[in-house]
Amino acid sequence: RAYTKDDIRQKIVDENVEFLRLQFSDVFGNIKNVEVPVSQLEKVLSNNLMFDGSSIEGFVRIEESDMYLYPDLATFMIFPWATDEHGGKVARLIADIYTVDREPFAGDPRSNLKRVLKQMTADGFSKFNLGTEPEFFLLKLDEKGNPTMNLNDKGGYFDLAPLDMGENTRREIVLEMEKMGFEVEAAHHEVAPGQHEVDFKYADALDAADNIQTFKLIVKTIARKHGLYATFLPKPISGINGNGMHVNMSLFNDEGNVFYDEEGELQLSQTAYHFLGGVLEHAANFTAITNPTVNSYKRLTPGYEAPVYVAWSGSNRSPMVRVPASRGNSTRLELRSVDPTANPYLTFAAILKAGLDGIEHKLEPTHAVDRNIYLMDEGERRRAGITDLPDTLLEAVSKLQEDEVIQAAIGKHMARTFVDAKRLEYQAYRREVSQWEIDNYLEQY
Ligand code: ADP
Ligand code: GLU
Ligand code: MG
Ligand code: MG
Repeated sequence: RAYTKDDIRQKIVDENVEFLRLQFSDVFGNIKNVEVPVSQLEKVLSNNLMFDGSSIEGFVRIEESDMYLYPDLATFMIFPWATDEHGGKVARLIADIYTVDREPFAGDPRSNLKRVLKQMTADGFSKFNLGTEPEFFLLKLDEKGNPTMNLNDKGGYFDLAPLDMGENTRREIVLEMEKMGFEVEAAHHEVAPGQHEVDFKYADALDAADNIQTFKLIVKTIARKHGLYATFLPKPISGINGNGMHVNMSLFNDEGNVFYDEEGELQLSQTAYHFLGGVLEHAANFTAITNPTVNSYKRLTPGYEAPVYVAWSGSNRSPMVRVPASRGNSTRLELRSVDPTANPYLTFAAILKAGLDGIEHKLEPTHAVDRNIYLMDEGERRRAGITDLPDTLLEAVSKLQEDEVIQAAIGKHMARTFVDAKRLEYQAYRREVSQWEIDNYLEQY
């Protein structure tokens, strides 16, 4: 996937590319674009394309607004669908953000992840591999093209057409992904009606985060082409499963997967147990990052295959961390709390730091829980060392503010903007009176 500047110049001519889109993500994981005609190619390739950082939410004040975009050449990609009347195409590059002094910008989630990955290398590891399982709903559009709350089918887990009306849309998503270089491992209807999942091959943290951003763009674009709206909102509809984004992770050094140990308990290494210990220790504190919206906490409720407690298991799927059965180089931990509204760059930085902290301080995980946690009462849970995940965004933000390790993982600059913005978001939500309150209280009081 490595391109030289000359490769890119050549491809642009060969494929009739007319526009270049420079992509980056803000603190909240929103994809931002600056689009320029190809006449600006040399400026782009020499890291001299500027933009106004003050117009991006959570970036900087107006006084320090000039920013440079440094494209990562490895992310060059031509959109297969974005052609105009004369066949001109649009290509994209994902960029890091640099300040006017040509330093990596502290508010850039992608540069921050690179910084944390460097710390990982200093600790003796070569790769943090991540495979995610993003879920989404397909909703019908109204005549004006706005999303409705009507699901496009009544299918369930692994159903086939005609029940699974999303099948054609999902297939096209997979085909477009393949054209753009993804290795798609599986795509299926999920448990809830109108709900789907596409799994693609794991990659090193930076690529994995870039891939999630690209994936969301593809899904939304193709859904619209089919007259549908794709939503990654964690819980768009109450009473049915929500959208998770399970994160499968493993740590490698030059010899291979350090989580695997043939002799270890469950064939997991000491390093794997310490990493797990770190993840459990910091889990409640990084929940604001992995589950960053008010709506995220409507998903983290019992009965919908999403976790509610901080616990792990070697087999059953109810805890927050599961150890999938594969061993050898596929040995991995699956974190099931994350939802697709999480900024993947911040999420991976936070999880990695939590795990490395566990390794550094030799943290031991609690005992594995191999029974259904939802059938245990509070006392039983407490004796088993099982704690609760935060149940509101407000609680999650407070917990983040107590944790120096996780704040360091996303950097002080972003920790501050993130916390401030999320507190405001929660206050805005709190001021609203919901239908539930009217239904349950109005006639009672
Ligand atoms: P589930 O059993 O939860 O449905 P899947 O098999 O659908 O899990 O998804 C597995 C995900 O884990 C895929 O994205 C896959 O690429 C990824 N994966 C496989 N091996 C590793 C590994 N060593 N490290 C990280 N992710 C991995
Ligand atoms: N949709 C479930 C969630 O909210 C996960 C279902 C599954 O196990 O894939 O996390
Ligand atoms: Mg799933
Ligand atoms: Mg899973």
